[in-house]
Amino acid sequence: MRLKKKTTEDQDRIPMNYETVIGLEIHVQLKTQSKLFCGCSTRSAYERDVPPNRHICPICTGHPGVLPRPINRKAVELAVRLASAVQSSIHPESDFDRKNYFYADLPKGYQITQHGKPLAEGGFIDFILDGIDQRIDLNHMHLEEDPGKSKIEGGVWLVDMNRCGVPLVEIVTQPDLRSASEAAAFVTEFRRIVRYLGVSEGNMEMGNLRCDANVSIRPSSSDPLGVKTEIKNLNSIRFLEDAVNWEIKRQIRVLNAGGEINQITIAWDDQVKEGQLSREKESEADYRYFREPNLIPVAISEAFIADASIDLPELPARRLRRYIREHEISPSDAVTLIDERSVADYFESVLMIYSGATKRAADWVRNHVLRALNDPENAFNQINELPVTAEYLAELLDLMDAGVISDALGPQIFQKIIETGRSPKQIIEQEGLRPPEEDDLIQIIDQVLADDPETVRRYREGNDKVLNRLIGQVMKQTRGRADAQTVRSLLIERADAL
Ligand code: ADP
Ligand code: ZN
Ligand code: MG
Repeated sequence: MRLKKKTTEDQDRIPMNYETVIGLEIHVQLKTQSKLFCGCSTRSAYERDVPPNRHICPICTGHPGVLPRPINRKAVELAVRLASAVQSSIHPESDFDRKNYFYADLPKGYQITQHGKPLAEGGFIDFILDGIDQRIDLNHMHLEEDPGKSKIEGGVWLVDMNRCGVPLVEIVTQPDLRSASEAAAFVTEFRRIVRYLGVSEGNMEMGNLRCDANVSIRPSSSDPLGVKTEIKNLNSIRFLEDAVNWEIKRQIRVLNAGGEINQITIAWDDQVKEGQLSREKESEADYRYFREPNLIPVAISEAFIADASIDLPELPARRLRRYIREHEISPSDAVTLIDERSVADYFESVLMIYSGATKRAADWVRNHVLRALNDPENAFNQINELPVTAEYLAELLDLMDAGVISDALGPQIFQKIIETGRSPKQIIEQEGLRPPEEDDLIQIIDQVLADDPETVRRYREGNDKVLNRLIGQVMKQTRGRADAQTVRSLLIERADAL
């Protein structure tokens, strides 16, 4: 089944008669401790304050005469896990090639990559855009080493080789995407998937996930594909969306003026929100690919695939669908719940214990749990550091539902759990938060009525609105412990009986 939405918002603004075609190449840094062909640390990919050229050795900096070490097994395992999750067919044997090019950040003068026989072929990624199911097919995925980084500062070329040799998997899609917003939704989903699988941190700002967007336009969907351009190295989803929209408009202008599209490479400048048409694209021949003579093929057995695919989680898009269908959670609330796997797992643990409504649990996770996690005051890195465990949250909700404490006290107790780590029951006992006994409550109510004869008179004359003032006074006297509904009915009873 294949459902495609052709008119997304950004396409509506594009003059009629052109269809946009986009294919993405996504580079993902695999979450290993060490690099692909040497023992150097990959720390610089995750920590901001690593000094330049700290984690390097003769192998990753390409000194003459050195040989790559046998491939990092963990990197292969993570790439296979990803391939398996998106149903790519994994080749029993794949090869490494040298891709030759000359750039300051590539001290070896070539990059070790898989060109002829990549790790896996095919597969697909499902996601939901504006409520509609989408499926984007993958062309292939391959392993390669990351190059370093270079920049010009004060007129001087600076090179940082910490990143040289960090393991990457590159995923190449079919030209199946039809708008910038579709491409953005695809990358959002892909990022979720790699994080769900534990294959990559997927932090785009840190460069753990970067994409190149290939863009072309054609008069209509029945025409052959147009000439494409390639926008390089987009490290944020917003840049991707802006850059693709900019490029579509540029191509339309060129074609409408009777020109033709050249196959060029574009660098996106986010400062000025413009692409820089940087160079004519290299052709395959320019790279002079040949087999890497110092590495044997990667052999992947069925047993290795089975090991790498152990405990594959339900993928986020399926989870999203399930939450919307089974739990009747609104699509936007459901997205918030599934975005991080640990949050969705937490939510489901709450549901297993809590006996009340799913909607109530969902609202609490969104409003209180996520807020507490995102509050810089708290400094929790992940949900499992939150003292309000799924058990405690379920207990708190059950206690509110049973009327043991008033709903109004819920957030306060939630905060107390964070501060003390104690259970809701302990906090209620120790802080004396149980609602007052009915006799005590009646006493308080009678006192409030006696203290405010003016309001009572207005109520008795038929002004129901003033009742809220009396309820407020009773709640204040009980320090929020009483159940507002109980207070209301008792107040009416006592006031009517006066
Ligand atoms: P190249 O040989 O230039 O690297 P590939 O055929 O390997 O091109 O494709 C690279 C990426 O570009 C893939 O994601 C593919 O889907 C996409 N692509 C190919 N042709 C087009 C096109 N005409 N318009 C948009 N994207 C395209
Ligand atoms: Zn090294
Ligand atoms: Mg290619």
